[in-house]
Amino acid sequence: MVERVDFDVLVIGCGIGGAGVAQALAAAGHETLVVEKKEPAAGTSSRSSKLIHGGLRYLETMELRLVHESLRERKIMLKIAPHLVRLIDFHIPVYGDMKRGPWTMRAGLSLYSLLAGFRKDSRFCSLPRSEWDDLDGLRTKGLRAVYRYQDGATDDALLTRAVLASSIELGAQHSLNTELVRAEWKQDCWQVELLRENKTETLKARILVNAAGPWAAEVAQRLHPAAPCPQVALVAGSHLELPGALNKGAFYVEAQHDRRAVFAIPWKGHTLLGTTERPYSGEPDKIIPSQEEIDYLRTVFQRHFPQADSTPLTSWAGLRVLEDGKGRAFKRSREVLLPIDDAHNPRVLSILGGKLTAYRATAERVLATLAPSLPRAERKADTSTLRLPEDKSRA
Ligand SMILES: Cc1cc2nc3c(=O)[nH]c(=O)nc-3n(C[C@H](O)[C@H](O)[C@H](O)COP(=O)(O)OP(=O)(O)OC[C@H]3O[C@@H](n4cnc5c(N)ncnc54)[C@H](O)[C@@H]3O)c2cc1C
Repeated sequence: MVERVDFDVLVIGCGIGGAGVAQALAAAGHETLVVEKKEPAAGTSSRSSKLIHGGLRYLETMELRLVHESLRERKIMLKIAPHLVRLIDFHIPVYGDMKRGPWTMRAGLSLYSLLAGFRKDSRFCSLPRSEWDDLDGLRTKGLRAVYRYQDGATDDALLTRAVLASSIELGAQHSLNTELVRAEWKQDCWQVELLRENKTETLKARILVNAAGPWAAEVAQRLHPAAPCPQVALVAGSHLELPGALNKGAFYVEAQHDRRAVFAIPWKGHTLLGTTERPYSGEPDKIIPSQEEIDYLRTVFQRHFPQADSTPLTSWAGLRVLEDGKGRAFKRSREVLLPIDDAHNPRVLSILGGKLTAYRATAERVLATLAPSLPRAERKADTSTLRLPEDKSRA
């Protein structure tokens, strides 16, 4: 006999992954609770490059499905969250000593535009030489071409809060400063133990969604039986906030040292510079940029903007969850993994990796995967057209 359950689904973690799933479940009419051990976006979802983009560089690893999906999501986000997502100009300078020459860039940008459906906002152009001296002090020596295209930028933490707020408007419940300590499958439901402000609380849920990002492997072990969790690697990515402003938009430059692409993006009147890729095996709560990463980013910036101040005002690091494998992190797939315990009757699902940009599409996939175990419910809204709420307290 199934005991009365308190919630159809308990979502563990309120980064963009957990907030997105809570919104999709609530929109589909399910009783949902999301618990977060700190505050919304306390983990990776406030430490990203803050781009709502297809990911031009993923074309090199032929992740066409992911790029196409992300560009479709970018289009949706521009409609449902114009107060949070805006298109900005991106510039790609091509120097004579770069691995990727003008024709490679042109081919990549053409494919990117094709995957975006050749929309007006996916066009690109080559800037005439007469405009090169007007690009925020970009080094022009050795420059062969500068391409300009558009992509989306956001505030990742505000976006996460807006998606959570939307889930609450749709009827989801949330509990912050609440940590999942343990859950056990007993009498046909999960008996869950939470720690909230040093007090233990218990509840029952039909399904668990492990949206704990870099903590997902740890959370999987707190479940009995443990949630299936394939081997994943944590890869640190650091950002620096530099004092100068970028007036012409963002720049996508190549690091001479390892040929990786690095972004310099306008951010709150300053410049956001990132990112790095460093394998990480420490505790996720303790991630900070290493001196080597700070030096690497400053060197790339100084090389491209020799007159600008590269002394960081502040710096931070986040953790990517990537499929474990050989080779450099930036060549590994960015596709999200959604392991479940049972395809016919899933009781627990984990969200591993993925992109901020694709949070809504991922949440819809989670909903479809869990469908066999979810009770019948009446849909309340469609997240692809539902406008995200504005945070009035910040107006
Ligand atoms: C450096 C870097 C740059 C990136 N740039 C971009 C970008 O520009 N564009 C893009 O689309 N994507 C980007 N990404 C990817 C994107 O940021 C992530 O995919 C996304 O933020 C992951 O969100 P998440 O919800 O899975 O994890 P998180 O945001 O880490 O959320 C997990 C949450 O779970 C909570 N938690 C952990 N354990 C428990 C527990 N036991 N009980 C309760 N709560 C718990 C944590 O406190 C945390 O808030 C980037 C990633 C990195 C690392």
